[in-house]
Amino acid sequence: MPTFHLVSLGCAKNLVDSEVMLGLLQEGGWAMEEDPAKASVLLVNTCGFIQPAVEEAVEVILEMASYKSGNSSKFLVVTGCLVQRYKKDLQEELLEVDLFVGTEGVADIVRLLNELVQGKQKLKIFLPDRFLMDATFARTLSTPAFRSSVKITEGCNNRCTYCMIPSIRGDLRSREINDIVLELKRLESRGLKELSLIAQDLTAYGNDLDKDTNLLNLLSAILQHTTIPWIRLMYLYPSGVNAELLSLMKSEKRILPYMDIPFQHVSDSVLKRMHRRYGYKDLCGFIENVRGAVPDIALRTTMMVGFPGETEEDICKLEQFLQEYRIDHVGVFSYTNEEGALSEFYEQQCTEEIKEERRNRILTLQANISEESLQKYVGQTIPVLVEGLSRETDLLLEGRSVYQAPDIDGCVLINDGNANPGDIVQVQITEAQIYDLVGGIVQG
Ligand code: SF4
Repeated sequence: MPTFHLVSLGCAKNLVDSEVMLGLLQEGGWAMEEDPAKASVLLVNTCGFIQPAVEEAVEVILEMASYKSGNSSKFLVVTGCLVQRYKKDLQEELLEVDLFVGTEGVADIVRLLNELVQGKQKLKIFLPDRFLMDATFARTLSTPAFRSSVKITEGCNNRCTYCMIPSIRGDLRSREINDIVLELKRLESRGLKELSLIAQDLTAYGNDLDKDTNLLNLLSAILQHTTIPWIRLMYLYPSGVNAELLSLMKSEKRILPYMDIPFQHVSDSVLKRMHRRYGYKDLCGFIENVRGAVPDIALRTTMMVGFPGETEEDICKLEQFLQEYRIDHVGVFSYTNEEGALSEFYEQQCTEEIKEERRNRILTLQANISEESLQKYVGQTIPVLVEGLSRETDLLLEGRSVYQAPDIDGCVLINDGNANPGDIVQVQITEAQIYDLVGGIVQG
């Protein structure tokens, strides 16, 4: 049985592509090998939308190439966004790589690897037309079966000036509601408890299909046709969240009181140059509306500092906004000037020192806000999905509350009571740390 070793880089959407390749290869008679030294094919599914990700991808590719050196029966295959972004240029740069496959080549991975190991390889780089996965594709989860992301679209029609994703992943393509429900029923039958709906812009779901295909109708179908207890909404676009969605979140407890919604900034002049379709006042109104509709909602957002032309006044406005609105979870990134992005030739580029100084300022401020705002949970009993033994010590269990998303937010450390991975239990919170909560199980 031919073997492959898969390294998956980048975002949750790229991880879904890796899981589909994993499923297709296993269905095609290939076996996953944990040890790269023993695998006949080394497969790296790359990210490539910003320079730090590009550098990480090249590092991992060269590390995998070191396992290949001198062994002609071992092959190195690179897939994903790095290939889709740089295409043929990569061939000259990375001679160790035997085959390059673009983001749209996921469906062809079995044929391509079979041809490679059988010496029937036709192309060094494979860049097919746009592809959209559906429920007929085998998919092997890399996460525990009780939690998973489901990608409901591919590509993006927004044109944020700093972003390379539309040029890498193409325009918006949405899956049909029935197709998504079909995949969910399969995941549910395997024990899915927590579903994270993901996309580049979740609120744009269905804009490229008929008018009845939209996020609201998708959520109604999921609520009607599955019993999945936790439904988490990720990657929402602020101006795409409407009153109907908020009232559904208010009435349907299976849709978690949680939103991942990148703002990127709050300064009107910066947002305008980013081509984001909202301003400072819109964001203030948005938060007041959301908290009015779902009072206990936890908000996660992303802020980008150091965008060309950003002033000290803009950063002060961002600090004031965070102090006033006290957002639960905030990721802070420095702008990277990407070759090919609309903002590449913008004047007033900030220096790396200024970016780093501003990023640290916002991170420090947010750490204090997070620590203070987590105090509100002390004394409360909240639902927690148990992940298993704590990563810190076997004396504690670890889980996440409805207010904490996988991999990006803090966790709940459980110091009393017993439960199995995948169980949803009631935990009484006794302590709050900077990002994590501590408590004991009060009800299974
Ligand atoms: S919404 Fe903007 S930042 Fe997000 S993927 Fe689309 S273009 Fe990029």
